[in-house]
Amino acid sequence: MKHLLDSHTHTVASGHAYCTLLEMVRAAADQGLELICITDHAPAMEGTTCPDYFANLGVIDREIFGVQVMAGVELDLLDSEGHVDLDHRLLARTDMAIVSLHTKCIPTGDTAEAYTNGLVRAMEDPYINIIGHPDDGRYPLDYPTLVRAAADHGVLLEVNNSSLTPGGFRQNAPVHCAEMLKICKKEGVPVVIGSDAHFFSYVGRHQYAEALLKELDFPEELVLNRDPAAFRAVIQTKRAQARKG
Ligand SMILES: [Zn+2]
Ligand SMILES: [Zn+2]
Repeated sequence: MKHLLDSHTHTVASGHAYCTLLEMVRAAADQGLELICITDHAPAMEGTTCPDYFANLGVIDREIFGVQVMAGVELDLLDSEGHVDLDHRLLARTDMAIVSLHTKCIPTGDTAEAYTNGLVRAMEDPYINIIGHPDDGRYPLDYPTLVRAAADHGVLLEVNNSSLTPGGFRQNAPVHCAEMLKICKKEGVPVVIGSDAHFFSYVGRHQYAEALLKELDFPEELVLNRDPAAFRAVIQTKRAQARKG
């Protein structure tokens, strides 16, 4: 299966990533991708950029080196009520938004019910498009509930290649990701692979995610990386709810 988009990448603006936006897009072009999402960490992440970075995303060309660029954000889930770290005024300036659980922004040690409820409440927000790396054993999740909510709210669940890399720092990620994918397969719920690249050479590298999908005989038509237009349509449909009010 040819993958044409990477939904999750970071630039120097994130504070702990090492390439510029142009270098990341150049890498996407070199990998033969048609679309890259630039998703720098939102302000609650230690050392990342400021709110004005997101306010000014409009200045970025949306096509560079022949690659479509979506200027987005990786938000932090802050609590079990679904609060995140950018307000609607700033989220409206982004093209797409991922929300993830990070140890610097939400404590570990709570229940699956609490973390799942936080993500489900966040999904109700029309600006939220992807749940990032829902695979970390430090944040247990109720996968049947998470998958159902993703389907109900038009949100994509991420298969994070970085999590699945051997020796990855998220706890037992392959096991949790497989559990989620089996439910997605059974229920026909689409997913998207993100590299979570923090350096140009990881852009479009989805090999561990692809291996897991293959192992599970996961249906190709549910993997949106093969179809940038379908990926955009999912995001546009969700965000149209914000414009309606
Ligand atoms: Zn990061
Ligand atoms: Zn993350």
